[in-house]
Amino acid sequence: MSDFQPQLTKRFETKDGHTLKVFLETGGYASLKNLFAKKPAEIIEEVKASGLKGRGGAGFPAGMKWSFVPQNTGKAVYLVVNADEGEPGTFTDRFSMLYDPHLLLEGIICASYAINCHTSYIYVRGEFVEQINRLNAAIEEAKKANYLGKNIQGSGFDLEVYVHRGAGAYICGEETGLLESLEGKKGQPRIKPPFPAIVGAFGCPTIVNNVKTLSSVPWIVENGAAAYAAIGTKESPGTHVFGLSGHVNQTGYWEMPFGLPMMEFIEKYGKGMKGGKLKAVIPGGSSCPVLTAQECADLTLSYESMRDHKTMFGTGCAIIMNEHTDMAKILKNLTHFYRDESCGQCTPCREGSAWEDRIMKKILSGEATTKELDLMLEIADNMEGKTICVFSSALAFPVRSFIKKFREDFEKYCKPASVAVLEKITAN
Ligand code: SF4
Repeated sequence: MSDFQPQLTKRFETKDGHTLKVFLETGGYASLKNLFAKKPAEIIEEVKASGLKGRGGAGFPAGMKWSFVPQNTGKAVYLVVNADEGEPGTFTDRFSMLYDPHLLLEGIICASYAINCHTSYIYVRGEFVEQINRLNAAIEEAKKANYLGKNIQGSGFDLEVYVHRGAGAYICGEETGLLESLEGKKGQPRIKPPFPAIVGAFGCPTIVNNVKTLSSVPWIVENGAAAYAAIGTKESPGTHVFGLSGHVNQTGYWEMPFGLPMMEFIEKYGKGMKGGKLKAVIPGGSSCPVLTAQECADLTLSYESMRDHKTMFGTGCAIIMNEHTDMAKILKNLTHFYRDESCGQCTPCREGSAWEDRIMKKILSGEATTKELDLMLEIADNMEGKTICVFSSALAFPVRSFIKKFREDFEKYCKPASVAVLEKITAN
């Protein structure tokens, strides 16, 4: 970590780092020389070799995704940036767009060139008004200086970039829900296949990438895949902007290579626990299975460590909870959120999320029995992997992990099943 150079946040504290002038003064758009000297297929191979994984949550290899785009179909190819950032506990893309919008544009140029795209859309969460203004200003500056538009820097490559403002729905962070919304329809996910790389925006091949995925690309194009792969861990190369929130003395985000131990992250960057000892961690957004303090003892900030601990890296923004946290109340927040945000197309998701939320309400009001905890687990089993998109599973994971790992927090609200039967008989 000592010789680590920030790639994604280096202008975050630079005065006027969002302007083209400062961007150019600090090495911005330098990757374009290497980019246009190579063929698009070579750029795809370079990004594949770097091992860069999609930073939006799923962690799919970026170069591999680009290679799925069919060429010479006679149709346009689109690149859509997923800048919706709606995952609870996740708050870093918004700063990338605010403090370094040109880096995202540079990443868009690199990716568009690689997949032969000439029109790109940045789909931004509607509430991010400042970010939208910054992006639009950056696009104008880039066009005037011929970093966008026709024949970029004399390369013969044309690209237009447009900002599209979303209306603020969690499900529009799911790539096909996002594409529906971009097309002006209700943001409801599509059945896959076909995947967007084959049939995406407006029926054309489309790549949907997260803000930080694309912002990572210029460094790879400029410095090479091997240099990128040498940072971080073997399975999680590169750097990421990791976030911390919850019961730590210092919340925030920090860019660093993958592989730091979670406990060191909490101690060194979060300045230690606040209000009590560690009880639980949601490692990368609310849909990741929760981990106990014991499980975090040997956890590192990497895709492979999260997988080995039977959770997910997700967005890399961890929510930290101390020993006084009532896990039943936290899960109630989540069931309420997912019930409200389900798009309603699939019965297991629409009914399951509402059912889980109703039971949680009953539990917290002291009217449920321990049997209802088992019912929640059964419902979760029926929600997972049976729907159009992963939203339904994204609630099943926390329900299952919260109840299984912290059952006593739920049982303290519940009557034993035998007492409930007795109460029923007495009432009759
Ligand atoms: Fe909509 Fe839920 Fe089905 Fe996803 S799983 S398409 S959010 S109903």
